[in-house]
This record gives sequence, C-alpha cells and structure tokens, in this order.
Amino acid sequence: MRVGYVYDPIYLKHDTGNHPENANRVAAIMRYLERTGSWQQINLLKPRLATMEEISLVHTKQYISEVEALASRGGGQLDLDTIVSPDSYNVALYAAGGTIQAVDAVINGSLNSAFALVRPPGHHASTGRGMGFCLFNNVAIAVAYILHKYKLERIVIVDFDVHHGNGTQDVFYSNPRVLYISTHQTHHYPGTGSVDQIGEGEARGTTINIPLPSGCGDEEYNQVFGQIIIPAIRCFGPKIIVVSAGYDGHWSDGLAGMHLSIAGFVQMTRIIKQLADELCDGRLVFSLEGGYNLTALSASVGATFEVLLGKEDIEDKLGQLSLEDKAPNITGLMQLIKGIHCIH
Ligand SMILES: [Zn+2]
Repeated sequence: MRVGYVYDPIYLKHDTGNHPENANRVAAIMRYLERTGSWQQINLLKPRLATMEEISLVHTKQYISEVEALASRGGGQLDLDTIVSPDSYNVALYAAGGTIQAVDAVINGSLNSAFALVRPPGHHASTGRGMGFCLFNNVAIAVAYILHKYKLERIVIVDFDVHHGNGTQDVFYSNPRVLYISTHQTHHYPGTGSVDQIGEGEARGTTINIPLPSGCGDEEYNQVFGQIIIPAIRCFGPKIIVVSAGYDGHWSDGLAGMHLSIAGFVQMTRIIKQLADELCDGRLVFSLEGGYNLTALSASVGATFEVLLGKEDIEDKLGQLSLEDKAPNITGLMQLIKGIHCIH
C-alpha cells in the first residue's frame, strides 16, 4: 500500500497570529506523525505552486487579484475571521498546488492514496469570495483539475468537516460529473447545506447535504454512512474519491458541538477507503480542512494514515466523551434525505 503525504514548511508562513486556524495545526500534525510507526511507511510529496490557469478553473481573476493585492500590501482581512498575511497568497497557491500534487500521484499510480497536509483550508471559498479561514478552494481546484486534465467522468467529494463546504457546493452545483456529499452541524457556520440544496439542472441530485443536530457521535455518523453515503457513492460510481478532511467534529473541538471520537473518524475513513477500493482502484485523496484541538487533530490525522496503510487495530488515545445526555435521534432526518435522493 503506497501512501503519500504532502507537506512543506511553507504552510507555516500563512501567519494568522492568535487565530484558531494557525500554523501550530500542521506543526502539531508533523510532530505527531514523526513519533509514530507510520512515519517510515508514508512517502513525502513536495508541493508546488498552483498555476494561475489552475486557480482560475475555480476562482475569478478579480478575486485572485484581490487576494494577491491584499497580501502584497502587507495583509489584512477578507472578512471578520479570514486573515491574509504577507505570505498568504503564496502559501495558498502552495495549498492548492499540494492538493493537485496528491491527485497527480494517485491518478498516475505512483501512490495508492495521499493526504495533503495543507493550509489555509479551502472548502468555504467560492468562485469570487474567500471566507471562513479559506482563501482558495484546494479541493474544488484539484477536482476541477482532474476534470480538465484527466477527463475522468465522475468524481465524488466527501466533506466530513463539521462545517458545510458552501464554496465547494457552489462550484459544482450544476456539474453532474461531481457528486458532493457533506455531513455538517445544522444551524452552524456558514448556514448553508440544507437537505433541499441538491444541485440544479442536469446536476439535480449530485449535491447531498446531511445537516446533523449537534451532539451526534460515532453511532449517528455510522448510520449516515451506512444508509446514505455508501449507497449514494455506489450508485454514482466515481473514478476517484477526494475528501475534504476536517476533524472539527471531534468531541474536544471548541468550534462546534459534535461528539465524534478518533474511532469515529477511523470508521468513516475505513468506509471511504473500502468504497475507493471497490469502485475506483483505490484512488483516494485527502486534503486537510478544519480541526482546531491540536491533540485531537494530530491523533485523528495519524489514525487516518493508519487506515490508509491498512492497519487493523488503531488505538483511540482520547476515547469517547462520557455523557449523560442521549444522542439525538436522526431516524426521521435519514428518512427525509433518503426520500429526497431516492435512496432505498
Ligand atoms: Zn470546519
């Protein structure tokens, strides 16, 4: 099993100061990986800059110039919570380029799967606007690149970040070749991702939103994958699966209210890997989105690599959240989404 990761210290240079999305996130992941047994078994891919042509597959020239100009003026803010530092434009080009490198390695067969450990994250960035800590939409750019360069007929994006990937949804909303599936916390930032947003025109049905009440944990996500995500991906028949991998659904994460454990992320990753093995010769690419508790983030990413390497027994050092409250009942929601998308 040839598994790769994309990383470069350039990703530390997007300087957001005292912000939840800061350089310590990827630094903590790298320190964690270096201490684990998986470290010797994963192959480093050095990122490259995405070209202007590649970024323009998703973003408008005007928006790209806006980010570049803001960085070259010494930085500032795109919105209340999205910071641009002097190096951020360059780093964002490397984040998109790194995800493209991962895609290239997996499609040309030099790797079975790869995880781009990049920042800034991407899934909130839409065609003409950055927001929610995101400058350029790394996953959307990499998927648009696959469509453009490799002409693969069908691509699945699974976005298990706790926030809805509004940017990714927008980019592919009328593209029937891309199935975008998002699990996210309902009534939470950025407010999009309701069940009735399903794509438009020829692409009706190729956006699947699964907005979950806060308090859902491993068992509820297991239901979601079993009842909706697995049948939907099998029915669509992708040639590659790309994952917007956000770990802010972990119970310890301060930015949301989900109760996933590391074991829950392992379970989801195993399912996604099995689907990739079954449907698309194992072609699977992860790109880092959120995850703000450094201990949970680094251990969850470490566990993801263990799944990709095919390891059986994966320890969850942080365990489960012990709670008196019962988890929300999502049976009705599952029925509703299955009805909308004709999943039987
Ligand atoms: Zn998030």
